Amino acid sequence: MFKAVVLEETDGKVSAGVQELEESRLPEGDVTVAVDYSTINYKDGMILKGIGRLVRSYPHVPGIDFAGTVEASEHAGFKPGDKVVLTGWRVGEMHWGGFSQKARVKGDWLVPLPPGFEARQAMAVGTAGFTAMLAVMALEDHGLTPDTSAGGGEVLVTGAAGGVGSVATAILAKLGYQVAASTGRVETHDYLKGLGATTLVARDELAEAPSRPLDKERWAGCIDSVGGTTLAHVLTQMAYGSSVAAVGLAGGNDLNSTVLPFLLRGVNLLGIDSVMCPQDRRRAAWDRVASDLPMEKLDAMVQEVALGDLPGMADTILKGQVRGRTVVNVNA
Ligand code: NDP
Repeated sequence: MFKAVVLEETDGKVSAGVQELEESRLPEGDVTVAVDYSTINYKDGMILKGIGRLVRSYPHVPGIDFAGTVEASEHAGFKPGDKVVLTGWRVGEMHWGGFSQKARVKGDWLVPLPPGFEARQAMAVGTAGFTAMLAVMALEDHGLTPDTSAGGGEVLVTGAAGGVGSVATAILAKLGYQVAASTGRVETHDYLKGLGATTLVARDELAEAPSRPLDKERWAGCIDSVGGTTLAHVLTQMAYGSSVAAVGLAGGNDLNSTVLPFLLRGVNLLGIDSVMCPQDRRRAAWDRVASDLPMEKLDAMVQEVALGDLPGMADTILKGQVRGRTVVNVNA
């Protein structure tokens, strides 16, 4: 038997609770993992509330990422005892996920735990941190260097006090970029400075729909987890030839922009997808996390909860009130 958060749907309403399940209930897969830690992300908040029809079949075990130890394997790449991490592949949406003491998945979805990482640290990074790394790599692929940013143009991070934003801020600062962190929460200013932000920008300053198609060039690059009018606004302020890595939609999924930032400033809008990201890129991103994320900053970003806390956390997540990363100790 093992414990898991199980979502049930009755008359179109989704409810969540911790249940004890037989191992025979696990879905198909060639690797069974004893889960140590998972994390709660914005998408988990939507899934726990049944928003966006991300889950099509109930009962369902959510949790879009996990780290743990292989218990049984029919996959050539993994053997019992191996430490592994999983993010993406629609686990926690189309397949039972990590809010569980056991998970059964395709071995092709797993990545060996990067050297030097414990399961808890890997989940402190989790999907959000992995995505932040993919965003940094995408900006670099399109020419961003610390020199560009040292020349006066800061790299903007929106939704900075959230999971993606916190890790992005810490990684960019460690790499030598000047980081402008945009947040709606004044009480997180000291936290964001501690992660390495050089400037703090009020969320409201960027949240209005832009009043003109091009504004003063202000940012050497941007990692945006907010979308909506914020992204439209930021596009008008990007420096010539710079890039925005669009990660999320915490502020809305409409994008009402003109083409002028692209035509007259050569701005690149780079979509970041951590879910179906190819395996080579996935491993490269985890290696970069291991080398570029200041581990001493990780503790400040993390709070820990137990399986039983998860059903009550969806509202807090969806209101954007969680700071940094929340790891789930599934055995607590
Ligand atoms: P969090 O909830 O941890 O952070 C989101 C942050 O956005 C909040 O902390 C808040 O930051 C800000 N925010 C929330 N609501 C609003 C609003 N209405 N208007 C403006 N800002 C708002 O989420 P994550 O960091 O885990 O994820 C961020 C986004 O990225 C989500 O949309 C998520 O779905 C997406 N995502 C995408 C991935 C991909 O592969 N593309 C992978 C992972 C996440 P503050 O208080 O600092 O203003």
